[in-house]
Order: sequence, then C-alpha cells, then structure tokens
Amino acid sequence: MQVRITVSFPYEAPVSQSLFERASAVTPGGVNSPVRAFRAVGGTPRFMVSGTGPYLTDADGREYVDLVCSWGPMILGHSHPEVIAAVQDAVSRGTSFGTPGAGEVELAEEIVARIEPVEQVRLVSSGTEATMSAIRLARGFTGRPKVVKFAGCYHGHVDALLAAAGSGVATFGLPDTPGVTGAQAGDTIVLPYNDLEAVRTAFAAHPGEIACVITEASPGNMGVVPPLPGFNQGLKDICSDNGALYISDEVMTGFRVSKSGWYGIDGVRPDLMTFGKVMGGGFPAAAFGGRADVMAHLAPAGPVYQAGTLSGNPIATAAGVAQLRLLDDAAYEKVDAVSAELRALVTEALAKEGVAHRLQVAGNMFSVFFTGADVTNYEEAKAQESFRFTAFFHSMLAQGVYLPPSAFESWFVSTAHDTQAVERIAAALPAAARAAAEATE
Ligand code: PLP
Repeated sequence: MQVRITVSFPYEAPVSQSLFERASAVTPGGVNSPVRAFRAVGGTPRFMVSGTGPYLTDADGREYVDLVCSWGPMILGHSHPEVIAAVQDAVSRGTSFGTPGAGEVELAEEIVARIEPVEQVRLVSSGTEATMSAIRLARGFTGRPKVVKFAGCYHGHVDALLAAAGSGVATFGLPDTPGVTGAQAGDTIVLPYNDLEAVRTAFAAHPGEIACVITEASPGNMGVVPPLPGFNQGLKDICSDNGALYISDEVMTGFRVSKSGWYGIDGVRPDLMTFGKVMGGGFPAAAFGGRADVMAHLAPAGPVYQAGTLSGNPIATAAGVAQLRLLDDAAYEKVDAVSAELRALVTEALAKEGVAHRLQVAGNMFSVFFTGADVTNYEEAKAQESFRFTAFFHSMLAQGVYLPPSAFESWFVSTAHDTQAVERIAAALPAAARAAAEATE
C-alpha cells in the first residue's frame, strides 16, 4: 500500500540522494536488502558512512541516534573498541583459510556455554542459512516432509519459509513471492500465531507427516508480538507428543534479550535453535544447534549435507567472541534499562497527543503499534494505522533519530545509548507524536 506522507520535510539529503540514484542504476531498487529502500515510509534512504556508540553519520554529514543497531547485532553500539581491536588482530593474521580454526571453537563453546539446550552447534554465515539448514536437518532426522510456521514470523528468505512471512514481506504486503514454486511451499503449513488449537488441528490432519514446527522465539518481524503465556511450551509439548522437532528461531532474540536469549526468559527447551545477528558482532556469522543426537545427523558425522566456504570465518568469529564475552549481566541490565526508559518516553509522548497505540515488549526489544488493541498475531498487526508510523518516522528522522523504516520492525538499543542519546530522542518525541496525531491516510 502506498501511503501519502503528510509531514513536510525540513531536510534534504543530497549526497544520499545521488548515491541512491547511482545505486538504483546498478542494483535492483538501489539496495541490497529491501527494507533499506524506505519504500514503506517514502523519502530518500540514508547512506551511512560511519557509526560510533549510539550514533550513525550519513553521507551528508548528519548524525542520528540509531534505534536500528544494524537490525539487532550492534548491542554494544558501533565501533566498540574491544570488538574493533579483536577484528584488527584477526585481520592481521589473514582473512579466510578454508580450514578449521581456533576462533570457531571459541565461538561454538561460547554459545554452548550460554544456552543449555544447545549441545552441539554448526556455524554458518547468515540467519537464512541457519533456518534453512535446521529445517533440512529436521526433515532428514524425522524422515518427514512438512514444516509448520506462523504467519508474520520471518525466518530469512528460505524458499519454503517465504509463505506469509513478516519483515520486508510484511512491509510490502506480499502474501507470497514469485519465484517460490508450489512444490517448494507445498510442504509448508502456515498457521496463525499464538493459536495452539490451530497447531493441534494441523497435526491431526497430517499424522506422521510434520517434521518440525519453527517459530520465532518471540516474534519481532511483524513488530514485536510476544508469545502468549504457555504458547511456546504448548508448541514444544505438541511436537514431543507427535515425534516432531520444535525449532526456536533466535536469530533476533539470541544473545540480545538475555545472556541466553529468549530461552533465558521462558525456559522452554527447543530441539533445535537458530542464531545470527548479535553472535557475529557486526560480521556475517550465524549458527544452528541443539540436541546432540539430532546434530549427529549432520555431515560429515551423518548423512544430512550442509557446508559453507566462509562458515566460521576467522574475522567474523573473532568479532562474535569479543562481543559475546563483553555481554555480561551488567550489559544486559544496561540495555534493559535504556529500553524501559525509551518505552516510557514514547508512551508519554503519544498519550499526550491522544494517539491510540500499543507499545509491545519482548525483553529489551520493543515496537509501537498504532492501534487501540493489543496485537497477538499478524492479522492484528496489519490492522494498525501504519500511516501514522510514516509521519512519526519522518519527524524523528528530520530531528536526527533513525528508526526502522517500517511499522513492522522491532526497535533496538545498545549499551552505548547513554543519557545524551536518550535526551536527544526525548527532545524529538513530542513533535513526532504530534505528526502521528495529525497524519491522515
Ligand atoms: N530469523 C529471524 C528471526 C530474523 O529476524 C532474521 C532476519 O532478520 C532471519 C532469520 C534471517 O537472518 P539473515 O538476515 O541473517 O539471513
């Protein structure tokens, strides 16, 4: 849906605009990941040149408080000195060997130590690869074809999982994508989120056919829509009762919402889990892991093939290990506190302008829905007045606060978001709330 923008723009971004024109000539839509193109909110995407702590600087020299944090990974803020030092040290020794290396062992040990259900882990380079591989392994292990996923949950651009996905797909309102064949999506069963009865019905309708249920541990790709109490445990129980695997996708929540991710919050024990984002420290590193008896089916230990030229890359693993080691209890307390402070400020500003909204929270992840009702699934998420978000977003951007350019994304904060950064956001919120109040479709 194309939304008419009702705020006036007191700002220009000529250098970004010219880079965007050059990019559009050589790259489809001018970007390498759709949501970056600002299509959901309109305007010129900002081309960033540097990041320090909680700030990003664009090609026009404007500074923004960053509430995207690279879509989650930068939980220590940008250019954290200890992560940069670890990367520089690793780079000085070479960039890729195509052999096993000590960094991979360290990162795997770090993950296994933090997340008790992960007995063994395999490193890959993106969250998409992690979920794709976990699904293949689940099918190989169970010998069954079908996969259950939930509408609004995004698990990367895996063919079989691009059915009613959230994230960029939600932003563009595509029910599905051309290029995915009926055969590829045919074994995917898409169910409404937070609806255990629908899951029971699906298992009853397909006895012995469902390999796994994959769910975002706590969804952030349709905006933040946490599982209702008992939902994840219910999934786990239904899977156990039916010989299927419960796969918890923690690419977004893993190492972000607590030391051991969403598992650290709800304690529901998955058979397999997927990770990405924070564990790569800003580099392409991701992983899937879980029960040792399941992981033993993976090549070369077992028959299920999976591989990667750059898997366990030494620079990525050095960044990931450095970042994870800095993420102690105090770091999570800091991120949680900043998140709580911002949530209170956003609520206060919107309430003052009488804007109907729901601020939804999962640990330190949060997002604002412009609606008067709680959001528990994708249909409810889509019912929000996203034109109000558009006005809100552009007002914040004009005042130097960089929000996710879509109403269907989580906001992310870091340990680097200090008082000064929070004050800048606080100063921008009243005008943005007014813009949201005055917006019309
Ligand atoms: N799973 C979840 C829950 C995600 O949020 C994402 C990305 O946003 C992915 C998987 C895919 O990860 P990547 O973009 O690294 O392929």
